[in-house]
Amino acid sequence: MNAQIISIGSELAGGQTVDTNAAWLARQLAMLGIQCSKHVTIADELVPIRDSIVSVSREADLLLITGGLGPTPDDLTRTALAEAMGVRLRFHQVSFARIEAFFKARKRRMHADNRNQAMFPESAEPIENGCGTAPGIYARLNDADIFCLPGVPYEMKAMFEQSVRPRFSDDVRQQTILHQTLRTFGMSEAEVGDKLSDLMRRDRNPNVGTSAADLVISVRFHARGSSESEASELIDRDAAEIRRRLGKVVFGESEDTLADAVARLLIERRQTLSTAESCTGGLLAKRLTDVSGASSYLIQGIVAYANEAKRDLLQIPMDLIETHGAVSAQVAEAMAVNCRRLSATDYALAVTGIAGPTGATPGKPVGLVYIALAAPVETVVKELRLGENLTRTQIRDRTAKIALNLLRLQLIGHS
Ligand code: ATP
Ligand code: MG
Repeated sequence: MNAQIISIGSELAGGQTVDTNAAWLARQLAMLGIQCSKHVTIADELVPIRDSIVSVSREADLLLITGGLGPTPDDLTRTALAEAMGVRLRFHQVSFARIEAFFKARKRRMHADNRNQAMFPESAEPIENGCGTAPGIYARLNDADIFCLPGVPYEMKAMFEQSVRPRFSDDVRQQTILHQTLRTFGMSEAEVGDKLSDLMRRDRNPNVGTSAADLVISVRFHARGSSESEASELIDRDAAEIRRRLGKVVFGESEDTLADAVARLLIERRQTLSTAESCTGGLLAKRLTDVSGASSYLIQGIVAYANEAKRDLLQIPMDLIETHGAVSAQVAEAMAVNCRRLSATDYALAVTGIAGPTGATPGKPVGLVYIALAAPVETVVKELRLGENLTRTQIRDRTAKIALNLLRLQLIGHS
């Protein structure tokens, strides 16, 4: 069964509103085992909507349309559907009575234009709207089932759940689609793709794909099976194979963050952590405390931004800063070692760097960052050159992620 979605609205096509309806509907269909192959977004204009309805009805078995069911002249879905079907619009008395009742119950005056919402293409069926005025429409064209739903997200969801899903749940439930995501850090998307190329063949089940977001590469896969256990077996087999091929770069599943991964490892080992931050200004501690239960491993986070703060809070000798500069391997190392001692923790992470866009000096460009990890047996220092083209936000974000990953690798014995 092939489904497609058409979202209607000039604000969607123009980018003022993000089309969340199509994404939500596609996920609902996937849970029913119905694959959605295309999303189309169209401005409030009659001809393109009509033509698109005709062409999608030829390609797909199921077409979901959202938006454009309002009462005003720019709401064109019902007219476009009627033209696509080559039929006229017909007044539907029962729907009109429901719209009138909706206003009466709220003691609001109904505008004459609301009568438009009771017009339906001949042979189409109205779908009752439990939470708003716009009834939905069910119609058939070129052997495709067409459902027109409101644009307002909560009305669209309610109508899908009450009137669309029940029509499909019985006959398509023989198929289950399950999703899984593995999250990786430390390999480029191209390298990940290289290692998984045979699994990423387009016609394969499970279907495997990658996506990149701020250095985190996610491997997403979905499996279809005739039963839940068949699909979950396929998912488990691929997950194990992908983990085997990618090894230590896999840090978690679904929505896991690097901080979640570090948190799990520290809790498992009953070990503690402290942070000493300069250029990230507390971002590292923020990420660590985003995880609920952080107090069991994070003892404290020190933000030492000015040189005097590094001296007073972390006991960094002024002459060390004067000799090597605040952004140096030596100062990063001293920050980590002293932070670990002063906080009495198993590990301490320290960062100092130039987040830009100002502050660069000859030999110390924007994006130069030192990360130090003081651990029970040794202290490691890493120099990063993140690149002068990155924004301040990107430099701080990447610094925090790379620092967390350094600790994660140390904890799993792969530093
Ligand atoms: P309806 O069919 O319910 O009358 P409409 O298209 O006439 O819908 P609009 O006034 O265009 O209604 O939109 C109503 C609200 O719903 C707006 O806030 C709009 O941004 C939001 N909306 C419409 N379509 C979508 C969509 N696809 N995704 C997210 N929000 C949407
Ligand atoms: Mg609209």
